Amino acid sequence: MGRVRSLPEALRSQIAAGEVVERPASVAKELIENSLDAQARSITLEIEAGGLGRLSVTDDGEGMDREDARACLGRHATSKLQTVEDLVALTTYGFRGEALPSIASVSRLTLTTRQPSLDEGWRVRVEGGTVLAEEPVGCTVGTRIDVRDLFFNVPARRKFQKSARSEATHVEDTLIRMALSNPGVDFRLVEDGREGVRAPAASDETHERERAEMVLGKAARGQLFSVDGRGGPYRVHGLVANPALSRGDTKGLYTFVNGRFVKDRTLNHAVIESYRTLLEVGRFPVVILKLEIPPEAVDVNVHPQKLEVRFADGSAIHHAVTSVLTPLLRTTPWLRTGQVTYSMPSTTPVAAVAEPSSSTGGDLAELHRARAKEALARFAGRMERGALEERVYTPPVTTGRPPVSTPGLGGATEFSRLRALGQVGLTYLLCEGPEGLVVLDQHAAHERVNFEKLRAGLGRGEIPAQRLLVPLRISLTRAEEEALQTHAELLGRAGFDVSSLGPGDALLRSVPALLHGKQPERVCKELLEELAESGASSPLQDALDAVLARVACHGSVRAGDPMTPMEINALLQSLDGVDLGAHCPHGRPVVRAISLDAMAAWFDRI
Ligand code: ADP
Ligand code: MG
Repeated sequence: MGRVRSLPEALRSQIAAGEVVERPASVAKELIENSLDAQARSITLEIEAGGLGRLSVTDDGEGMDREDARACLGRHATSKLQTVEDLVALTTYGFRGEALPSIASVSRLTLTTRQPSLDEGWRVRVEGGTVLAEEPVGCTVGTRIDVRDLFFNVPARRKFQKSARSEATHVEDTLIRMALSNPGVDFRLVEDGREGVRAPAASDETHERERAEMVLGKAARGQLFSVDGRGGPYRVHGLVANPALSRGDTKGLYTFVNGRFVKDRTLNHAVIESYRTLLEVGRFPVVILKLEIPPEAVDVNVHPQKLEVRFADGSAIHHAVTSVLTPLLRTTPWLRTGQVTYSMPSTTPVAAVAEPSSSTGGDLAELHRARAKEALARFAGRMERGALEERVYTPPVTTGRPPVSTPGLGGATEFSRLRALGQVGLTYLLCEGPEGLVVLDQHAAHERVNFEKLRAGLGRGEIPAQRLLVPLRISLTRAEEEALQTHAELLGRAGFDVSSLGPGDALLRSVPALLHGKQPERVCKELLEELAESGASSPLQDALDAVLARVACHGSVRAGDPMTPMEINALLQSLDGVDLGAHCPHGRPVVRAISLDAMAAWFDRI
């Protein structure tokens, strides 16, 4: 007897499920895609316990008849693909006919469906892939698929699921992506009985923008700008955000190809490139980018969950994206809204930039003009600085580097004895030391001083904090909310008094004194973003260091800030106490030196 046998059907489905159904969010994605393929105008997603307990999708699409309702639960049953040629010109989301049977094989699934022409619907109940019951039911037109106890029969998978909270976040992300790519469809998320994300169908571009702002949360309000253009045969459209909405990660990059959400390095790179002069290194913009390209210019079938694509001509795509985004971003549409929501260090001396008066009275138009002018001045400074920073910054490293050797510098305690010569490129401080020229990176140096101060302060349990006159509201994503719950105490030790106000909102009452006037709410939000990213996994000391490093960074002079001789001397003085060999917040060198001998060699004096 041969030992090679066909696998039983149920086992085959479970294996296929491993590819398609990874977690509740992948179930949500498959079911929503089916609803969209069925021409639904309205889709409701309900979850309980992060979708592990229950996940249902209800649509008002074209429904199925009795035969189809049964057939669609069998493997490779699809109404969407009949020939191999169809694969190339695919316009629907699904085509493998794998999703429903896979989901059904690892859950307790109930399918209820009714076609518009019939006055009765049909219901099928399946458990672990086995059909338990089929019966006619009275129901509304469309389809509802109810998935309970996901992975109840696959204990190994169940073990790998994260907390309900984190699964819910993934489900929400999925819904947001689907909602953004299908503006004409009404989406609702109901989580444990509570209304979550809501995206009413949009009829035109203005509505679409407002809807996207709604989906992305309060911070996005009024901060998105429509873009639509062509690069060769490709259409590039969507929404770009004010750089002030930038994040420390790439989660704000929503990229779609022919209506599908994809993760693609070429697209991400093109978007980041378009924002290059507007954002600091390590910050990423929020952008909803939609690319419409001929089906044959892209292969969407490389990934089982179809998140990745392969472009026939990646560089043409890259060029199309930058050539559409860059001209719009150059017009800085966010400055035209009359409000400047973020402040940047200016390259002009502080006194020369008039503080916009917030007092009432006076000509309002005048005030607006003054603000716009100030914003433009800052923006111009920013542009120059962006170009500068590119040359200055090396990519941040996560571990500290060994101490930088500084020939020409007497020892770690000698900074105050250097003779300050001045500033170069608004970024470097030139000084004369006993053995030659000493060059400091003004930001790195100040950051180091501040970091050490904060650390010492923390050791003594006293990081100076400042109560805000008017507490600031910050809107939070679910992941950030979670990070706040976990790390409130830690943030408190660093000087942030921030507490949750209920879903999506927090109140900032006090901030580290170092951040006075530095948009502390933005820093706080960034911190939560970062803590959400690193999760509970990182040791407390690392998390604290990350917080302090960020506070130090924001509380420090930047590349591009003018410094007076007095300020330069003060900085040199404060560097004396600092151990430059110690672990440095960003691992970049602070100081370099050029010896007199080296200079002599330049001029053939030796
Ligand atoms: P695929 O989407 O790849 O065809 P699925 O397993 O996801 O495979 O779905 C199988 C079939 O079931 C679909 O081709 C479609 O005919 C039908 N179907 C699934 N969900 C729906 C729905 N919400 N409304 C109408 N028909 C559906
Ligand atoms: Mg499908």
